[in-house]
Amino acid sequence: MDLVGRHMEPGDYDAVMARIADVASRHPGERVSLVVHYRIRGADGRIRHCHDTLTLEVDGSGVPTAVFGVAVDVSERVEAEAAMREKESQFRATMEAAQVGIFVLQDGVFRYANRFLIERFGYAADEIIDKLGPPDLVVPGQRERVRDQMRRRAAGETGRPYELTALRKDGSTFPVIIMGAPATYHGQPASVGTLLDISVQKEAEERARELAYFDPLTGLPNRRLLGDRCLQLIAAAEREGSELALIFIDLDHFKRVNDSLGHTVGDELLRNVGIRLGTVVRKIDTLARLGGDEFAVVLPGTHAAGAAEVAARLAEVCSASYFVGGHELTVTPSLGIALYPNDGGDFDTLLRNADAAMYKAKESGRNGVRFYSSEMNLATLRHLLLESGLRRGLGAREFVLHYQPLVETGSGTVIGAEALIRWKDPDAGLVFPDQFIHVAEDIGLINPIGDWVLREACRQARAWQDEGLPPMVVAVNVSPVQFRQPGFVDSVAAALAQSGLEPRFLELELTERTVMHDAEHNIGTLAALADLGIELALDDFGTGYSSLAYLKRFPVSKLKIDRSFVRDLEADAEDRAIASTILSMGRSLHLKVLAEGVESAEQAKILSDMGCELVQGYLYSQPLPAEEFAAFVRNRVGQGAA
Ligand code: C2E
Ligand code: MG
Ligand code: MG
Repeated sequence: MDLVGRHMEPGDYDAVMARIADVASRHPGERVSLVVHYRIRGADGRIRHCHDTLTLEVDGSGVPTAVFGVAVDVSERVEAEAAMREKESQFRATMEAAQVGIFVLQDGVFRYANRFLIERFGYAADEIIDKLGPPDLVVPGQRERVRDQMRRRAAGETGRPYELTALRKDGSTFPVIIMGAPATYHGQPASVGTLLDISVQKEAEERARELAYFDPLTGLPNRRLLGDRCLQLIAAAEREGSELALIFIDLDHFKRVNDSLGHTVGDELLRNVGIRLGTVVRKIDTLARLGGDEFAVVLPGTHAAGAAEVAARLAEVCSASYFVGGHELTVTPSLGIALYPNDGGDFDTLLRNADAAMYKAKESGRNGVRFYSSEMNLATLRHLLLESGLRRGLGAREFVLHYQPLVETGSGTVIGAEALIRWKDPDAGLVFPDQFIHVAEDIGLINPIGDWVLREACRQARAWQDEGLPPMVVAVNVSPVQFRQPGFVDSVAAALAQSGLEPRFLELELTERTVMHDAEHNIGTLAALADLGIELALDDFGTGYSSLAYLKRFPVSKLKIDRSFVRDLEADAEDRAIASTILSMGRSLHLKVLAEGVESAEQAKILSDMGCELVQGYLYSQPLPAEEFAAFVRNRVGQGAA
């Protein structure tokens, strides 16, 4: 060793000697072989690599007594290997720098994945390598497909590129294209793959799609998208038998803005118009810009009156002044409405007819709204007039209550009065509730109107008592909208307190439909009302569907048989059966039963034979203004209630 040792690189000599000492110490009294590597420096100064097979003779205490060796110069091989390693690391560095994902798979897991891939997926290298496989990096719905591709690679098939939705560690996704091919890795069968992030391309595609379907100026859907939406909405409307409205909007004299102030101002104005119109429509509606100064809205589930309302609001928001490029501008729109199915069964027809209606609006002086079919104009005009009239009526005290006696047939006494509202429209005269209550409900006016009725009826009942009329119940009709309003119980309590009427003299009439709809929920409100000490009656009974179970639980004290069953009592056996069923149901539930709409003595007789004691109807009296009602009662008391 000494001879060679003298030429060995210093560190290598120490290492070889240490190895020899170590092996010898573990084999005392034996002869053993070992292989060592070291470098020696030749006379020319070149480093040579040696591969030396040594044989040691070891004495009993583990000290080598002789060393024989056969050294082979393996410099060529070692240098070739180093060069190879260098090449490999350069190659790896290249792969690490690549802007595509590169990976090697073996036994279903990643053996190699470049930095791009690892970083793009948000993992650390040691979370992926030897742990995860491609199925872990795609959305669950695509995992089976990926496994299938992996089986094909394993079978030696080169794949074609395919698109997947990649799944990051944080759960977010991005689109990729991947492609794999069979390969060997460290001498074992494997597959190698590349992965391309195509988010950018996808965004570009999306942008192209947007350009095709959206108006670049306003960002609103264009005519094409409106057409697509309409197609779907019409199909849905057809299935459900529902309606749909298409409103065409055209700005009056918009050309003047462009001509006098230039296109930049014109464009800005159009953008603003688009924004304003957008504030009116609901999420389910589609507002589109058709081009130029033309817009359109499709309103699913909307009838004529609803469309007229939306059109009025569109016109209103559009007409308010704009500040654009230092100018204050106003534009008025003309609007045309076409309705499905009445005015057309497809988008093109509806749009054409809405456009035609818009022209009619322009012809008749611009800044207007027209329906395509003229009957609609009349019907909704009436509705709109009614609406504004009602709003005015409430302020102008145009409502009055008439009172219809509730009579007990046995004694002939008037036991109460049903308060029935009338509207004294200065133009139309006396308007009956069937014509305006539903409109008031639609436009949210029923709450203030209903509140007024309550207070007025309580005040009147108390006034009659103060005038010396026999105390009696006043019955007030309550709309379902009013009943469901959160503050309703409080407003009843307030009306009682304000008037000083004892609660037992107030009866609320709720229709069967009102209380049975969402019955479970209503029990609380009904109980709170009953707690005030007032009476509750179920109006129009027999026309809805009552659950006996609920009837038993509701704190109501009276059922009012609907007029429709009373009308034909004489002729119709079925109506008689219904009336008598309601009566016996009332008896078994300990409820009073009153028959409405009794017009003839025959009806009164049939009812009385059935055991119906309480009635109301023209036979006794029409609903009367307050003084006439008082006179009617006094008269009967005077006659000893004939
Ligand atoms: P209702 O509660 O069933 O009222 C009875 C209706 O029948 C009244 O019509 C009354 O005038 C009418 N009537 C009474 N006796 C006879 C008769 O013998 N023959 C015929 N043919 N009709 C008779 P009115 O006053 O037109 O009221 C209609 C409905 O409007 C009422 O039906 C009620 O549901 C509602 N209503 C009336 N006033 C109010 C109110 O203040 N608030 C609310 N929410 N609804 C009200
Ligand atoms: Mg009633
Ligand atoms: Mg009724």
